[in-house]
Amino acid sequence: MKDVIIIGGGPAGIQAGILAKAKGLDVLIIDKNDVRGKLDHSIHLSQKKQAKLLEDLAQQMKLHGVEILQGEVVSASMVGPVKNVKTAAGEKLECRSIIIASGRSPEVAKKRDGIFQIGRDFLDPEDFNDANVFLHGENIWMGKEVDSLLDRAKSITILSSFSLDHPKVKNLGPGEFVRLEEGEDQAKVTYRQDGKEEEVTLDSPYVLVAYDEQKPNSSIYIRMDLNNGYIETTDQVETNIPGVFAAGDIREKEAYNIDSSLKDGHAAALAAVKYLMK
Ligand SMILES: Cc1cc2nc3c(=O)[nH]c(=O)nc-3n(C[C@H](O)[C@H](O)[C@H](O)COP(=O)(O)OP(=O)(O)OC[C@H]3O[C@@H](n4cnc5c(N)ncnc54)[C@H](O)[C@@H]3O)c2cc1C
Repeated sequence: MKDVIIIGGGPAGIQAGILAKAKGLDVLIIDKNDVRGKLDHSIHLSQKKQAKLLEDLAQQMKLHGVEILQGEVVSASMVGPVKNVKTAAGEKLECRSIIIASGRSPEVAKKRDGIFQIGRDFLDPEDFNDANVFLHGENIWMGKEVDSLLDRAKSITILSSFSLDHPKVKNLGPGEFVRLEEGEDQAKVTYRQDGKEEEVTLDSPYVLVAYDEQKPNSSIYIRMDLNNGYIETTDQVETNIPGVFAAGDIREKEAYNIDSSLKDGHAAALAAVKYLMK
């Protein structure tokens, strides 16, 4: 039986895993994706300061030999001293405490099927090389990400109240995406602005990106106190269930970024240690 199972290997889960392991706990991180691959990917996409943080994290993870299992957690039995977590592959893993760090995802996830939906899980920077990129949506904070794509893309067209001043960028202003019609060498994007349909043509290769709202990945945690899908915790990241902690973007808090997720991961590991020592 593990001392602690961590669901999710993003910044929060990895930070929790490293510290819990360093404190002598038997730890397992479960992530549906390849954690190292995702980390490399995020390092690449993040801004300088965050990229450095993630790089340090990757090194520490290696140094401490944190155990990782690739698998999707589909249910968790969390009440009582012995808890268990089930994966889609049918594994049932027992533990004494759980740290939920499963983050958020965009509501709709499509790749190369009309709309290329942005999200850390499925955004590949290579897709933007020499592409004509069409961006839409109002999730402005993520717009910063666009900055790092300026070097790669051939052109960027933005349908949003967010705009960028750059020779490669055409700012259309706020509007609603209507449809994409794909031709052999071109794609036609129709959008609505002030109640009127407008069109813009993109030469191949082209990429469409929607900056949609992110939703917490909390649907399987049915016994948790949730607010709008976010797990409610104390400042020490304790949930309403003893021995279960929530860290990172999955929990209700003010800032959703790498820094605060790392802090949460740290707090969750310490809280798990304290709980297990009781
Ligand atoms: C495109 C994009 C760019 C961003 N850029 C920046 C930036 O430059 N700077 C910054 O500070 N922040 C940035 N952010 C925000 C930052 O990435 C998040 O705040 C941070 O990653 C949250 O960390 P986390 O560990 O809570 O969750 P996540 O990083 O989302 O990790 C959650 C993990 O849980 C896994 N998971 C989910 N459900 C399950 C399940 N059922 N079973 C198993 N595993 C599961 C997922 O695969 C994922 O690996 C960006 C976010 C996006 C989407």
